[in-house]
Amino acid sequence: MDVNTITKASGQCLCGAVTVSLNDARPEAEVCHCTMCRRWGGGPFMGVSGGSCTINGSEYVTVYKSSNWAERAFCSICGSNLYFRYVPADHYSFCAGIFPFDGEIQLGKQIFIDEKPHFYDFAQDTQKQTGPEVIAEAIAAGFTFTEAKNES
Ligand SMILES: [Zn+2]
Ligand SMILES: [Zn+2]
Repeated sequence: MDVNTITKASGQCLCGAVTVSLNDARPEAEVCHCTMCRRWGGGPFMGVSGGSCTINGSEYVTVYKSSNWAERAFCSICGSNLYFRYVPADHYSFCAGIFPFDGEIQLGKQIFIDEKPHFYDFAQDTQKQTGPEVIAEAIAAGFTFTEAKNES
């Protein structure tokens, strides 16, 4: 955990039916350029993770199982994407845009850089990993994948 975590980050979907309280949020938004994330959100995914979290209005949260190891959730009223959950580690990565962050976080690592289309680039030069590198790192950390396809 980073030393400068944000003690408590409060976020919400567009309509406000779902609110999120994330403790010890890491002060960076990790970016995923993979095809699935871009299809899901209309652009690259920017995720903020942290410690424990509370989701209020969970009756309005629809969870879509996008692969054998991942879930993606959205508000069933307004359609706002809420989080990506890596199931094997029970790890939540919340959509950065649901929080009112400005200067307190930075752009973090960019993953699946090999799947990024050419029509955009971020001005910030951050650490980058290809999809195979991300998967190799996860396998090295002890996670197994039951489907042989890229997902993040
Ligand atoms: Zn909503
Ligand atoms: Zn992705």
